[in-house]
Parts: sequence; C-alpha cells; structure tokens
Amino acid sequence: MKKLIVVTGASSGIGMETAKMFSKNGHPVLLISRRLEIMEGLNLKNSICKSVDVTNREEMEKAIKESESKYGKVDCLVNCAGIMLLGHPEKQDYTEWDNMIDVNIKGILTGTSIVLKDMVERNEGTVINISSIAGRKTFDNHAVYCGTKFAVHAISENIRKEVASSNVRVITIAPGVVETSLLSHTTDENIKHDYNQWKETIESGLEARQVVNCIDFAYNQPQDVCIREIVIAKTKQED
Ligand code: NDP
Repeated sequence: MKKLIVVTGASSGIGMETAKMFSKNGHPVLLISRRLEIMEGLNLKNSICKSVDVTNREEMEKAIKESESKYGKVDCLVNCAGIMLLGHPEKQDYTEWDNMIDVNIKGILTGTSIVLKDMVERNEGTVINISSIAGRKTFDNHAVYCGTKFAVHAISENIRKEVASSNVRVITIAPGVVETSLLSHTTDENIKHDYNQWKETIESGLEARQVVNCIDFAYNQPQDVCIREIVIAKTKQED
C-alpha cells in the first residue's frame, strides 16, 4: 500500500477533490473537516474520516496518531481547510476576522506541528499548504482574508527553508477563483453579488480538479525535487 495522506477541508471543494485523487491513486487517506457525514459518504477506499476542527490541536493529534497506527507515518499533509469572509473593514464583525485568522493561519499550523518532527527525522515528507492568489496581492474587501493568506505564504516559505536540509518539502499552491462553496460563507450580500458579477467577466472560476492536478503534479515529483509554489488562475483572471 502507498503512504498515508492527510487532507483537511475534505468535506467540500478543493479538499474533497484532493482526497478523492489520492485515494484513487492508491493512498490511504485521513479526511478531516467538521462535517463527518459528507466525508463518510464519499466511501473512499482505505480512508479514515474524522470530524475535527482544524484549530483544535489536541483533536488533530488524536486523529493523525490513530490513522498512523493503522497506515504508517504521514507522508503528506494537505492543509486545505479555509474560510473567506469578505467585508468592509469599518463594518465587518470582529468575530469574522477572528475566525479567519484562527482557521486559515492556526489551522495550517496544528497539523504541521504534529507531522513535521517525524518527517524531519525520516528525511522525507511533504506539507502542501493551500494559500491563494490573495496571498500575493490585495483585493477590495479582502483585508483580513488577504492577511491570512499572505501569512500562509510567509509561514510556508519560512518552514520550507528550515526543513530543506532534511529533504522535507513544503509546497504552496495559490489558486485564483475556484468554483466551490468558499464565497457562500461571506455574510455581506452586496459583496457576494459584486463578486459573482465580476466572476462573470472571467466566465467562471477554475474547477477544483484543475487545482488538484497541481497538487498531484507537485507531490509526485521525486522527494529531492520541491515545487515551491504554484500560482494558478483562469487565463482571463487579470488580477
Ligand atoms: P469550500 O468552502 O468548498 O471548502 C472549505 C473546507 O474547509 C470545507 O471542507 C470545510 O469543512 C473546511 N473547514 C472550514 N473551517 C474548518 C474548521 N474550522 N475545521 C475543519 N475544517 C474546516 O472552499 P474551497 O475548497 O474553495 O477552499 C479550500 C481552500 O482553498 C481554502 O483554504 C481557500 O482559502 C482556498 N482557496 C479557494 C479559492 C476559491 O476561489 N474557492 C481560491 C483560492 C484559495 P467543514 O465546514 O465541514 O468543517
């Protein structure tokens, strides 16, 4: 059997497609998100599904250790769980900022802190962080979301350098707009409306599987080749 993969945010969008891809390629997969039924409904071969909030380090550790006792050490952690709550900075509820910082930043750190030491000791392993094009440039109403994704880029690049000599890879994937439920959690209806109108100018976002092709490509390079970063967007997405 191939090596164990952990995917957070596996109940929807890019994370779900990532879990399906790795399972189809013969890997045992630990699927993590809060909505257990959706993950279990995928019926992926050699999978374990856990309802865990990625901000809860203890629960993350329990889920990862349980999967490792069945399938061996984690070879790849894909940190995909994320939320995008767009808003005007002077109007946005503080809890929305707080939640984005917790899920998008701390949520990539919990799993990383659990798997990294072992990877360094084994001189192999890969952490793939799903950032965003909003981690490289700013957009209207994206202040804190962009802040969290700039943080994902910075944290990934910093850790990448620090574990490089141990042959461990840290990879950042930064997509433009993708057709998922990400926008649906934004509470400001005007912002959602404007976003959807703008999206028509690029004739819809990427399909999740197009991002997953990048994950597949980056992971399947030899361990001594690190695709440090991929930025992918619809050709018509100018920004
Ligand atoms: P979706 O909304 O479709 O999926 C988000 C996933 O994150 C869900 O599985 C959700 O599961 C999970 N999640 C959210 N909060 C938590 C939490 N506290 N604990 C555990 N899981 C959580 O969005 P996408 O697939 O689009 O988003 C995936 C990643 O891609 C995100 O990091 C996003 O920022 C990034 N991205 C997306 C783009 C897009 O346009 N769609 C563009 C660029 C980057 P559940 O609710 O069941 O917990």
